[in-house]
Amino acid sequence: MAKSPHQPPSPWRVALTFDVEHADRPAHPDGTQRVLDTLSERDVLATHFVQGRWAQAHPALARELAARGHLIGNHSHHHARMTWLSPHGLVQDVKHAEQAIRRVTGQDPRPWFRCPFGDGTDDPLVLSHLDRLGYQETSWHIDPFDWRAKATGPQVARTVIAEATAHGDGAVVLFHPWTDATGRALPLVIDGLRAAGARFVRMDEL
Ligand SMILES: [Zn+2]
Repeated sequence: MAKSPHQPPSPWRVALTFDVEHADRPAHPDGTQRVLDTLSERDVLATHFVQGRWAQAHPALARELAARGHLIGNHSHHHARMTWLSPHGLVQDVKHAEQAIRRVTGQDPRPWFRCPFGDGTDDPLVLSHLDRLGYQETSWHIDPFDWRAKATGPQVARTVIAEATAHGDGAVVLFHPWTDATGRALPLVIDGLRAAGARFVRMDEL
């Protein structure tokens, strides 16, 4: 098959990442389960940044994320902005999430951490606290804004495929599994990127 001149040399790596959390806007009732099933059907492993309180509220689903071979990260306990917390509050929040995630899934989320709202990713104090707790902040390259009310599956898929292809090897994509748009986009994203020569990896394979 002739290769498009715009495609990176294959196979190139893409990491699909999901912020698994209590939704703060209208959500698909089975969004996370739907994402998990699509990933299994298409034999894709991903990275899931789990909110501690979410793991406590949905232990069976959280266990399934780990049992299916996905990489589990920490997405804080209360999903507060890291820069708004006191140093003590930040440390307690990260540790509470870690304990909840370990208790429920049996997996240690270290060293993978993602700041809620991406807040604190460029804050030296937040980063040094995370470092002392054994974490590295894990940002993303591609954000399709799947949580917006007007987001649709095809539009999210088009954005992710175009931007990941433009980024090339090592592209990290941010999704929210509770949104309807991501549930609809995910099969299109996986099939589209595979057709473009991509291979899906967990964050620990980047
Ligand atoms: Zn989040």
